[in-house]
Amino acid sequence: MDTDYLVVGAGASGLAFADTLVTEAENVHVTVVDRRHAPGGHWLQAYPFVRLHSPSAYYGVNSLALGEDGIDEAGLNAGYYERATGEQVREYFAEAAARLTRTGRVSVLTGHECLGAGSDGEQVRDLDTGVVQAVRVRRKIVDARYLEASIPATHTLPFDVASGARVVAVNDLPSTAQAASSYAVLGSGKTAVDACMWLLDNDVEPDRIRWIRPRDAWFYDRRHFQPLEQVGTMMEGLALDAEAGAQAATIDELFGQLEASGRLLRIDPARPATMYRGTMLSAGELTALRQIEDVVRLGRVRRIEADRIVLEGGETRTSPETLHVDCTALGLTNAPARPVFEAARIVLQQVRHLSPCFNAALIGFLEAHRGDDAEKNRLCPPNPYPSSIGDWPRMTSRTWRTEARWLSEPDVAAWVAASRLHLLRALPDHATEPSVQVPLKRYLTHVTAAIERLGQLDGSKSRGPVLTA
Ligand SMILES: Cc1cc2nc3c(=O)[nH]c(=O)nc-3n(C[C@H](O)[C@H](O)[C@H](O)COP(=O)(O)OP(=O)(O)OC[C@H]3O[C@@H](n4cnc5c(N)ncnc54)[C@H](O)[C@@H]3O)c2cc1C
Repeated sequence: MDTDYLVVGAGASGLAFADTLVTEAENVHVTVVDRRHAPGGHWLQAYPFVRLHSPSAYYGVNSLALGEDGIDEAGLNAGYYERATGEQVREYFAEAAARLTRTGRVSVLTGHECLGAGSDGEQVRDLDTGVVQAVRVRRKIVDARYLEASIPATHTLPFDVASGARVVAVNDLPSTAQAASSYAVLGSGKTAVDACMWLLDNDVEPDRIRWIRPRDAWFYDRRHFQPLEQVGTMMEGLALDAEAGAQAATIDELFGQLEASGRLLRIDPARPATMYRGTMLSAGELTALRQIEDVVRLGRVRRIEADRIVLEGGETRTSPETLHVDCTALGLTNAPARPVFEAARIVLQQVRHLSPCFNAALIGFLEAHRGDDAEKNRLCPPNPYPSSIGDWPRMTSRTWRTEARWLSEPDVAAWVAASRLHLLRALPDHATEPSVQVPLKRYLTHVTAAIERLGQLDGSKSRGPVLTA
């Protein structure tokens, strides 16, 4: 089999890259392989009550809308743009892959695993038949699994479970919850938030829920991530980032200001929060989560027994009637930065923060329109996913520096402005409205000073080399 580009991974990233590449480049053939049985990546094994945490309006592949851009009228997302369910995301990626296949320029091989290079090309195994075939790649291999998500359904439990202890993956919560008298949710991040919200939504009293949180986390307020007609809220959030970045002398001051301005939220304002993963909550979710008062802060779980939980920092009681819900999978990986464009390989990574689909599509655009790898890397410096508050300065300032480079390249700037994956795509339509003008002016006033100041707060410098932007 011959192809121009072999994309390894048919998740959101691989499909968004392939979609833009074949739209922008003539006469290229792309083969996308994935070991999963269908396109969509981790969404195929997501827990049943998962939803996008960001609006559907800017998620997916560039050429196909996800959802109707409707605004929810009820529930905790009321007033905000719709967020697709896991089922809707899976259906969407199936359709996106089918459309790509119909172009005749893309082959999507699910149930196929890429084994790496052989003497006659990349070795790809059909997982049904076991047959291995060589794929001769004329241009590049595209690694769309470098940041592969680690999810509850597939990760290895990072603690021991003794007999008599009841531990389930969050995927099994709906089918097992009925039989339990109380619940212990394990994990600090968005999945644990979703598990707690599911229990509360299903009328479990808050005092029957125990939350084992190794770290306390910061979340964005979802109100600042609303696109289209509400793009002013997005601009307001960016202005708050720039103002805090320009003024803070320390990381603590920075997060203090971001919290005081309403940009960032933490569940317990009395406790220090050190985790920052870039996820978001609505004010309603925050209020609901604050009802859970039994929070265990003794570090990571080491072992769960029938009547006790052993953690890094001590132990606490539990019972055989308690259902322990594993939400400890990492989600976004902490893979180190490496060049996106190499001689025979493209490694899809985060460039602009909080925009995985946009980034993959932009990399596809640059592959179609730039020849020189050094120039492509200048326009796409990798920006590793954040884990803790020390990552915020590097991640945010790198995004701003990179965006400035896009603006000085007319074709890139035009593509970004028109992309449905661009968070600010509606900005020009609302540019004369005060709700956009005022925060835009504040953002522009502070962003240069913020880039400078955040460079001084960049915690990654003390933790070893990160590719320079
Ligand atoms: C629960 C959850 C919710 C999220 N919600 C949002 C959101 O609302 N908004 C947002 O912007 N981002 C969100 N994210 C971030 C998320 O990482 C992206 O949205 C995106 O789905 C990740 O897609 P991906 O293609 O990079 O990775 P994956 O979905 O992990 O896909 C990688 C694929 O590579 C395949 N693969 C790996 N190795 C091989 C091999 N050797 N051969 C063949 N195939 C291989 C895997 O089978 C996998 O399907 C969320 C993440 C999680 C975990």
